[in-house]
Amino acid sequence: DQLSNKIAAGEVVERPASVVKELVENAIDADSTQIRVDLSEGGLASIRVLDNGKGIEEDDLETAFFRHATSKIKNDRDLFHISTLGFRGEALPSIASVSHLTLTTSTGEGEGRFISFQGGKTTDKGKAPARKGTEVTVENLFFNTPARLKYLRTIHTELGHTTDVINRLALAHPGISFELYHNEKTLIKTNGNNDRLRVIASIYGTEVAKNMLKVEASSLDFSVEGYIAKPEITRSNRSYISLLINGRFVKNFAVSRAIHEGYHTLLPVGRHPVVVLSVTMDPILIDVNVHPSKLEVRLSKEQELTELIAKTIKDTFKKTTL
Ligand code: ADP
Ligand code: MG
Repeated sequence: DQLSNKIAAGEVVERPASVVKELVENAIDADSTQIRVDLSEGGLASIRVLDNGKGIEEDDLETAFFRHATSKIKNDRDLFHISTLGFRGEALPSIASVSHLTLTTSTGEGEGRFISFQGGKTTDKGKAPARKGTEVTVENLFFNTPARLKYLRTIHTELGHTTDVINRLALAHPGISFELYHNEKTLIKTNGNNDRLRVIASIYGTEVAKNMLKVEASSLDFSVEGYIAKPEITRSNRSYISLLINGRFVKNFAVSRAIHEGYHTLLPVGRHPVVVLSVTMDPILIDVNVHPSKLEVRLSKEQELTELIAKTIKDTFKKTTL
């Protein structure tokens, strides 16, 4: 019902950046290769996410806005094998309950459909052109939750959060082209050519990208690939360590520690490296259902992974004359 959707929105939708994250993750789950995000006033006035993914079938359109209606999990077993970014079926109903939302979608076969909501109530629906993909427009976010609205920061701060979200998704999915515009100005544009180093260059600059070493390793359960900066490229905070597991940006303390262990004495005290590691594993080994934000994860064979990462980094420096 509408009240529980609004309560769920409190957990899932904290600020414009969380709306962008959920909508773009849906676009990724729908196998899009091009995703475009347009914001006005930091997303406070409007957020539009346009994708070229598989679209939603007419019969599934209204159900997509029911709470816990996900097309991604069908049984208990699926819950332990999550290979999609979404699985809770909470994002669309939550966002629709605290904004004016219109979703337009087409599978590319026959005509498309649209549906509109205000504060969780359907206000309009009908036919739309048959352009394959989905477009979601979210306006007047938090119009009916004044407390949440008051908590938001300046346009500049909110924009910073959204930029972080898109950068992380772009790092995790170099095969997808991402575009972010703010008040029609381009902020991020990646080409989707599957070149992660180019995404790194566009986020951290060419100087950092030039000083990255490629790493690649695998064990029985894990395969790891990515880039580690030479030890002279350091940062004063740890947010430059990006861990991507099965295409999901996550935080894991043990892995961060293993990365530091890999650098060992090469890193000055209190400094952190720039690292982007993409890990692939059987979804059974990772529990993403720990927190609604899905940022923290639990790993079943954490030690095997941390040993692999620390060793790979050490070996890379041993092989390279620094
Ligand atoms: P979840 O992602 O957890 O399944 P959501 O509320 O985010 O839940 O989305 C509900 C459902 O709507 C998804 O399971 C999916 O079937 C459909 N959907 C949402 N966004 C898109 C999109 N951009 N393209 C195709 N299908 C989508
Ligand atoms: Mg989702």
